[in-house]
Amino acid sequence: MQDCLFCRIVRGEIPAAKVYEDDEVLAFKDIQPQRPVHVLVIPKKHVTSLAHATPEDIPVFGKMLVLANQIAADQGSPDGFRSIINTGRVGGQEVMHVHMHIVGGQEPVGPMLKR
Ligand code: 5GP
Ligand code: ZN
Repeated sequence: MQDCLFCRIVRGEIPAAKVYEDDEVLAFKDIQPQRPVHVLVIPKKHVTSLAHATPEDIPVFGKMLVLANQIAADQGSPDGFRSIINTGRVGGQEVMHVHMHIVGGQEPVGPMLKR
């Protein structure tokens, strides 16, 4: 997994604008923000996608969900946000290390899916 982009960010080999870090979780700004607030929250441990999650990942995924509101508020989205986890080909996942997008800002994010 040493070539995984987000594992390289965890190891500090690629710079990222970190906004939160603890022993299990890292959050950093998306390089191509889709909204004024756009943060990626990842487990530091490599998990390829939600399709690869196992019961031992339950605590870290729970932590990511519980951290989301504070990260969003700290970044300038105090009145809610959208959290998105894309999985696999059908979900449109581009980086193969689980990540939760937190998108928001002052204005509503908009419809959930394009029609
Ligand atoms: P996905 O489509 O896999 O759900 O989302 C991948 C996200 O990773 C995209 O929003 C993309 O902009 C972001 N991204 C890709 N490469 C980098 C990078 O090197 N640094 C950061 N901060 N974000 C990245
Ligand atoms: Zn990884």
